[in-house]
Amino acid sequence: MMTTVGEIMLPSNDQYKSLEKLPEPEERQFNLVLDLDQTLIHTIRTTDYDVVRFHCTSKNLLIHFVHESTDPTKNDTHFLVFYRPGVFKFLEKMARLFTIYIYTNAVSSYADKIISTIHQSLGEVVIKKYYYRKQNSSYLQKHLKNITSFTDDTIIIDDRLDVWMEDVTNVIKIIEFLGPDGPSPYLEDMELYYLIPIITEMREIAISKSVPLASLISYAYDKYIMAHVEEILLDEDDYFPTICKPEAVDFLKLGVISSSFE
Ligand SMILES: [Mg+2]
Repeated sequence: MMTTVGEIMLPSNDQYKSLEKLPEPEERQFNLVLDLDQTLIHTIRTTDYDVVRFHCTSKNLLIHFVHESTDPTKNDTHFLVFYRPGVFKFLEKMARLFTIYIYTNAVSSYADKIISTIHQSLGEVVIKKYYYRKQNSSYLQKHLKNITSFTDDTIIIDDRLDVWMEDVTNVIKIIEFLGPDGPSPYLEDMELYYLIPIITEMREIAISKSVPLASLISYAYDKYIMAHVEEILLDEDDYFPTICKPEAVDFLKLGVISSSFE
């Protein structure tokens, strides 16, 4: 028998994924694993100074840094990191409900800068732990077993499914965020705002019905798709964010932040 919430069907009890016995209610830990690039941020990498100048006062510029060229005949590489609209509100709200991890195929020297800037902007540390690709490794598969041995109460937000071959049933695939490289106007990207109420509700259902969080993935994904059609899931507070936004980093005023990669 199906149960309805709004117009989206909840799975019946025998459809719930339950690979292992759930921990006792007070011992349950809900994990949210987030990808970085094209999920929370987008980075333009360029050696063209005109491109840097064009974007340096952009509203959604989180940080700009430079990888200095060791070859004097070549230009330095500039990294312009744009944050996805809603990212601060999303992290702030989710941190109250989940243990948050970042799992990225970027290398640590790049990802560390972004994560620490996000924490600085929020004024608190919301991301518990980070998993990076090892320097010079071409291995791109990600594994939940690196984070937890009990994966049923863990959900993943990533713009790619193919990197989660082992844990694909834990993933909500978010539409990729390409910042100024994507469709205009990118500042109206609503994906994280759509996911706030959906993920909040998933957790509430997982607790109230004593079912694994991951068993609600297809239910959540259907709601996520539906949100694009109807925009029904947003309350006004979420739609008109009063989020903590960092000022765009104006490197012309601050001076460039130089860095070298490992
Ligand atoms: Mg990605």
